Amino acid sequence: MIFARQAKLSTGWASNVRLDVLDGRIIELAIDQHPQQGDDAVDTLLPALANLHSHSFQRAMAGMTEYRMAGKDSFWTWRDLMYRFTEHLTPENIEAIAAFVFLEMQEAGYASVGEFHYLHHQPGGTPYDNLAELSARIAAAAAKTGIGLTHLPVLYTYGGAGHVPLETGQGRFGNRVDRFNELVAQAKVAVAHLPADCRVGIAPHSLRATSPDDLREVLNAHRSGPVHIHIAEQPKEVADIEGWLGARPVDWLLANANVTPEWCLIHATHMTEGETRKMAKSGAVAGLCPVTEANLGDGPFNGPAYLKAGGAFGIGSDSNVLISLTEELRMLEYSQRLRDVARNVMVVGEGSVGDTLYTGAAKGGAQALGRGNGEILVGGWADLVAIDSAAPSLCALRQDQLLDGLAFASKDDVVTDVWSAGRHAVQSGRHVQRDEIVSAYRSAMRSLMASL
Ligand code: ZN
Repeated sequence: MIFARQAKLSTGWASNVRLDVLDGRIIELAIDQHPQQGDDAVDTLLPALANLHSHSFQRAMAGMTEYRMAGKDSFWTWRDLMYRFTEHLTPENIEAIAAFVFLEMQEAGYASVGEFHYLHHQPGGTPYDNLAELSARIAAAAAKTGIGLTHLPVLYTYGGAGHVPLETGQGRFGNRVDRFNELVAQAKVAVAHLPADCRVGIAPHSLRATSPDDLREVLNAHRSGPVHIHIAEQPKEVADIEGWLGARPVDWLLANANVTPEWCLIHATHMTEGETRKMAKSGAVAGLCPVTEANLGDGPFNGPAYLKAGGAFGIGSDSNVLISLTEELRMLEYSQRLRDVARNVMVVGEGSVGDTLYTGAAKGGAQALGRGNGEILVGGWADLVAIDSAAPSLCALRQDQLLDGLAFASKDDVVTDVWSAGRHAVQSGRHVQRDEIVSAYRSAMRSLMASL
């Protein structure tokens, strides 16, 4: 059993909460209890966030692309470097990096991850004997860390808008729809040994990397489960899609695909007011990745109009240049403040910004990963995080200010415990497999750097 001095339940804050977990789900929950011997006792229990968008391998190149080259650096020069890097990754590297990334996520307070997985083949593009070899490596990393995995194999067919062939450097990503469907089937086999909270969805990479016919075909073949897609991240992409399909990406997608609450639109940075309102009404989740969007110079999301229209959102760490839950939350709000020259932007009407950000991201993230509703309630997955309200950054705050303290005044080190569907992976601020996973990561990085 877990005992929390206070907990934020679906019904609001409660004191002295005891809860029981069976097969990953909360089966019993009672308030005003006393801790019992053998309980995992914590201070403040919150629903743990899902990290809804990650390309784990990119963590290994963090810090390598921050040197300004002659001429203008851009998202597209970053992408070229990323492609060169991927040519050297072995399946063993990919597993070791993913395990380290998942560990960092759990220590930061995330219980689950949406792994948007587009490295499929050998360098050059020849498939592995097992088409889903690299999905199996991601599954192994999830098994080792205990993180809740929503695996999202990516359909990546073209190098640019209008059926442009793949470039050299994109060979490891490429599949046409028929082989992609086979790959998803194999990926389901590859994750079959994971616990019951694991999900497999699909991820058409972006409108530029697929085509209207292919998209229709792949959506017809996969009628349930999460669908994630990058959209409107960069102005060039918006212009390319408008030139090719005659509409801006979000407008085009909403008019041509049945976008439901099972969808997650990653970034959705460059939208008109009309697109913003329509996307919110679709019920799809906006997959916001504030630290990466800042790092890549994407621009800020249209937060106020989207929230006003009732839009769902969650957060992800995307390129994993930095894995920090608290940094993502405050970067999301601060990007809005810097643009609008205003304070307390991500709230409709009146209220706590930290609560709006945290609670919104918990619900939207769980929805996007097919993990329920992101609240602590009986029947839901036990995706839980405990923080220490006695930490110096939080100790002066009232209960109703704690999430503001977490979002704006704390680092991730206020996290003491994390359960991913009941798997108690972080204890006393440390992942239980930390030493082994970090040592495997260091050794993978040594061999990778020697091969570059
Ligand atoms: Zn991404």
